[in-house]
Amino acid sequence: MSLFDSVFDNPKNALFLREDSRTEGKLPLAIEQIIETELGYFNQSVSITNQNQIPDTPQIPIQNPTTWLKIPDVICCFVDMEGSTKLSVGLHDKTTAKAYRFFTETAIRIFHQFGAAYIDIKGDGVFSLFNKSQSYTALAATVSFKTFVYEHFTPKVQKLTEQNVGGHFGIDQKTVLVRRFGLKSYQNRTDRQNEVWAGKPINMAAKLASLSTNNRLWVSDRFFYNLKDEQAIYSCGCPNGVKVELWKKEDVSKDSRFDFDNAYSLGSNWCERHGKSFCSNLVKLDTEN
Ligand SMILES: [Zn+2]
Repeated sequence: MSLFDSVFDNPKNALFLREDSRTEGKLPLAIEQIIETELGYFNQSVSITNQNQIPDTPQIPIQNPTTWLKIPDVICCFVDMEGSTKLSVGLHDKTTAKAYRFFTETAIRIFHQFGAAYIDIKGDGVFSLFNKSQSYTALAATVSFKTFVYEHFTPKVQKLTEQNVGGHFGIDQKTVLVRRFGLKSYQNRTDRQNEVWAGKPINMAAKLASLSTNNRLWVSDRFFYNLKDEQAIYSCGCPNGVKVELWKKEDVSKDSRFDFDNAYSLGSNWCERHGKSFCSNLVKLDTEN
């Protein structure tokens, strides 16, 4: 047990009842000890292990305080509800509750079904991580969820709440550092620890999503460049047999939040006739490569 864990073993004792014989001082002794411990780690050097794949979550370091994993080109798909602030917990608690479940639970389960390496909730959105070898799968998963939002979520929730709600969708890709922070175990609770993915893709995917409106998916150029197969670039040709380019280039160079200049946005959902085959063909492209 580390000092950090022992201090929090019983927070009430630690903070308020623990003997603190000092007559003066700015902070309670227990708090000073936490800061001192962390200062000690801050002054130590960090050990970073390069890893090609996103590890299983139990393999993400938590115990050794200076150990991190570094994973290149991690793909992050971020989705959250557009217009969620219009849903009122005070007035329409039950429909709001239903809407949250419909959106969030479906997102988690769809990304899981596509084999995401990691899935978590961030705010009231969901992010899922895919390895760099899974770019078509990441796209297929997000378009599948986007299609669900358009076909089911928006019309159903609109009917119940008379509010215009939808989805925000974003994808980015870059190197991340990961480890777990917090208390490894505390009274069987898991809310005192979580994985921290330091690096651009999670934040950038969320910021790209925040720009997306009208059921469009926004992706960074560095993710977009993975999509070389025409099935990811051109439409199926419905309804008139003419295949059209699906993506629109978006200039984000004036937006200082991004470390890239161009994004690409996609409006289309899976086609009624060809969606299913497009989806499985895209996933196959990852396994063939
Ligand atoms: Zn079609």
